[in-house]
Parts: sequence; structure tokens; C-alpha cells
Amino acid sequence: MATVKIPSQKVILCGEYGAGKSSLFRRFAMDTFVSASDRRSTLGLDQFEKVYRVGPEDRQIKLQLWDTGGLERVASVTSSYFKFSEAAVLVFALDNVDSFNALSQHLLEIVSHAEHAKIYVCGNKADLRHEAVVSDEDIQMFCEQCHNVITGIFKTSCRTGEGVHEMFAEISRQVSSSSRSRKELERLDDRSFRVEAPVVEDESCSC
Ligand code: GDP
Repeated sequence: MATVKIPSQKVILCGEYGAGKSSLFRRFAMDTFVSASDRRSTLGLDQFEKVYRVGPEDRQIKLQLWDTGGLERVASVTSSYFKFSEAAVLVFALDNVDSFNALSQHLLEIVSHAEHAKIYVCGNKADLRHEAVVSDEDIQMFCEQCHNVITGIFKTSCRTGEGVHEMFAEISRQVSSSSRSRKELERLDDRSFRVEAPVVEDESCSC
């Protein structure tokens, strides 16, 4: 029996060390959470693929999530990390103003290396409500200052799991519809948009 290839969309996690990227990755991949003491100490890029069903036809799409694996601690993340990504999630911690203030720097990297990527902002550690120092207004203002390059804003808690699966499900819906319309455009026969040149009558002809 013929197997149908499920399209795969690359999604990257960006943001300051400690914002919760690996925790989001772990929630996405295994639906687990580890606290500070259990944090993995190894370095290296991580990838994990998961199938989502999207649209009225219940089409299958693979979301391939990439995490820096803490590499940003020791070196800048290379352009191959950004390459071919359909979406980038800019993660900051709601209880850490420095992680929020660093967003514009990460945004610049995404815009320079992944021009097609849809960009999302994710305020993580939503469970630390009482310690939150970044308000909804701050996030809104940041997005407005970014001249509409931000497609969506999410709030998550990797500790409780709140908002994490909803965020990835929404991203899979949005990237699948935009890459689909891009593919449809690429497939369009260029003749379908051709404007025929008007027939100019040759006035010099006497017949
Ligand atoms: P990364 O450096 O961006 O990959 O951040 P990590 O995922 O390693 O998380 C940094 C620290 O924050 C770890 O101690 C996590 O356990 C903790 N952490 C991550 N997400 C949450 C969350 O949603 N709530 C709380 N309370 N702690 C979190």
C-alpha cells in the first residue's frame, strides 16, 4: 500500500537562557516537567516531531520542534538553526524582565536568518502569577513597536502545562495554512495570470 508523506514544518524556540525553552520542548515531546535540580547539563540541539490534525479535512501535519539545548549559553546559535523554519517562538519568562528586554535582540536574529518564519511571543512561567513583572500591556506594546511582525501572543506554564498544547496546536494550524497557500501559488500555471497584449492594427497597411 502506498504511504502518504506527511508534510513537516520546522518550528524553532528562541529566547534567553532560563526562559523555559527546554521546558516547552519537554512538554511538547514528553508532556513532563522537571524542576531546577533535575535540569539536564548536556549541551546540544534537540528536535522532536509530532503529528497534528488541522483544518476541516483533518489533514495531517508534522510539527518539528527545535530547541537550542542550552547552546546559547556558550555560543551564539548558528544560522542553520534558523534556516527553513516556518515559525519561531520567542520565549521569555513573565517573572524575569531581562528575558523580556532581550526579545528585540532575538527578534532581529530571526528576521535576519529566517525570513519566511511566522513569529510568536510566548510569556512562560504563567504559574508564577504573583511574581510576574511583565504585564499584558508591556507585551502588547512590544508587539506594536515591532510593526506587526508578531503573528500571535501566548502565555504558558510548563510547570502546570497550561497553554502549552494549545499554543503548538494553534501554530500548526497557522503554519499549515500559510505554507499550503504558498505551495498552491508555486503550483499555479504562470499562464493563468498572463494579460494578453492588445492587438494593434497596423495603420500603414492599405488593404
Ligand atoms: P531554557 O534555558 O530557556 O531552556 O530554560 P529551561 O527550560 O531550562 O528552564 C529554566 C528554569 O525555569 C528551570 O529551572 C525550569 O524548571 C524552570 N521553568 C521552566 N518553565 C517553567 C514554568 O512554566 N514555571 C516555573 N515555575 N518554572 C519553570
